[in-house]
Amino acid sequence: MTNDRKEHERTPCDGCGLCCEHLLVDANFADVLREPRIEAQRPLGKKAVSLSILDASWMLAGPGYPCPFLNAEKRCDIYPTRPTTCVVFATGSSQCRALRREHGLPKLVPHLPLDGLLAEIMNEIIQEEEEGPLLG
Ligand code: SF4
Ligand code: SF4
Repeated sequence: MTNDRKEHERTPCDGCGLCCEHLLVDANFADVLREPRIEAQRPLGKKAVSLSILDASWMLAGPGYPCPFLNAEKRCDIYPTRPTTCVVFATGSSQCRALRREHGLPKLVPHLPLDGLLAEIMNEIIQEEEEGPLLG
C-alpha cells in the first residue's frame, strides 16, 4: 500500500473538480463497454490530445481539456460507471495536492478517527522506546 493510498483513506475529497479538469484521464475498452456514453462523448480516434502510446485509449480529459462528464456542480455524471482511472485516483495523492496548490486551494485536512489517532500515538511511543533516548 502506497503512502498516497493511506492518505486517500483518511482524506475526504472536497469536490474541487481539478483532477477532472486538468489531469490526463483515459478510459479502456472495459470502461467503454461498461459505460457507452464515453464513446459517445469522446469517440476513439478523435482525440484532442494525441499520443501514440494512448492510441488505443479513449481520452476523456487532459490539461485544458476538462472531462465532459464533470457537471456544473463539479460532480461526475457517470460516477457509478466512471473509468478505472478515476476509481483508483487517490484523494490527497501528490497529484491532488499539487493541483490544489497550483490553483490556490487550501490543503485537505486528513480525517483521523480517534482509534486511528490513538494507534498512531501508540506506534510513535513504541518506536521511540525501541530506538531509545536520542540524547545520552
Ligand atoms: S483534486 Fe483532489 S480534492 Fe479535488 S476533486 Fe480531485 S481528488 Fe477531490
Ligand atoms: S469520468 Fe467522472 S470522475 Fe472521471 S474525470 Fe470525468 S468527471 Fe471526473
